Amino acid sequence: MPKAKKGIKKIVKSNRPDWDQYFLKLAMLASERATCPRMHCGCVLVKNKNVITTGYNGSIPGDQHCEDIGCLIVDNHCVRTVHAEMNAIVQAAKRGHAVSGATAYVTNMPCTTCAKALITAGVERVVVFSDYHDTLATQFFATANVRIDKIEIPSQQINYDLKSYTSAR
Ligand SMILES: [Zn+2]
Ligand SMILES: [Zn+2]
Repeated sequence: MPKAKKGIKKIVKSNRPDWDQYFLKLAMLASERATCPRMHCGCVLVKNKNVITTGYNGSIPGDQHCEDIGCLIVDNHCVRTVHAEMNAIVQAAKRGHAVSGATAYVTNMPCTTCAKALITAGVERVVVFSDYHDTLATQFFATANVRIDKIEIPSQQINYDLKSYTSAR
């Protein structure tokens, strides 16, 4: 007696990222919009597994970009760009979204100023995969009881295999 046909022939195990990898991957994607050649950084603010806002380091709206006219260096730092974390917080403020209790997924350990802004905005957890120089972030986060989770850099590959999806044309 033939076995009943099942709807699912074969379960193909995909490279499914876990939540932390997923949101960090989004942060990496956001960083592709960055305009300062000295650093490409991305930030995603997440609450209850939902993205509140994203940010990357770029110029003030309407201003010219580092990659077009060069960096604006003060004390060995480029000060032209608004940092990714700051842009994510500011986008939330502009649109009236609360970020208190959120997790910040950032490609790099925040700088001192961004760390202070994240703490003040009520961010409770920071997930990063890379360090950043000259920062008091670790110290400030510890004082404010903000948890820092440093994880492996997620896969930098976007896995979208259109030809293998049977419902695709
Ligand atoms: Zn720059
Ligand atoms: Zn910063």
